[in-house]
Amino acid sequence: MSGFRTTLINCQQCNRRIMVRASDAQRGSIVCSHVGCGAVNILQTASYYDENLVRGLPGFGQLTYASSPDITYPLQFGKNIIGTSETCTIRVERFLHEGRCFISRRHCTLTVTFDKWTGKLRYQIQDGTTDPSTHEIHTSLNGTLLNEMPLRKTEIIDVDDGGIITLGGADRFILRHFALNPDMLATYRVDLAFNPDRTQ
Ligand SMILES: [Zn+2]
Repeated sequence: MSGFRTTLINCQQCNRRIMVRASDAQRGSIVCSHVGCGAVNILQTASYYDENLVRGLPGFGQLTYASSPDITYPLQFGKNIIGTSETCTIRVERFLHEGRCFISRRHCTLTVTFDKWTGKLRYQIQDGTTDPSTHEIHTSLNGTLLNEMPLRKTEIIDVDDGGIITLGGADRFILRHFALNPDMLATYRVDLAFNPDRTQ
């Protein structure tokens, strides 16, 4: 905590003023000094990561077709619309099972964002696609599963590294997150000065 200046905050229990020193801010908490109170006040000393970081990344992870690991689909930052249509961001093959394909033309949406507070890429899946003008959701015909659990309409769920996305109950894809280099990430870290407004 370089450059920290002593600050006054209001105790969250007795609402009287207490003085926060650099050592308290580093510890992340302060015990109220007022007689008869003694409440532990949690201090949030936050840092975040500059979102410009994503501009320099060589990739954003990929999906691997589980039945044939040679088949991979690189993801892009933002919305990835997955399906057999040429209008998709990720156009998958029409994988046939006894002559039938179970993947819809625009089957599901996998969104990649950057969480500036954790410094991690975030992957979220939703069945179907959202019409950008009407915000209406067009679901897939045969559904999407995440780790064998069916997604309900309008559900948007986080997908962990190694998560299995099943399209139409027949075709499995394994998500691989893009691993951010910790040294690179550290160079994008921005430390916020202790902000008394962010006490809990
Ligand atoms: Zn107090």
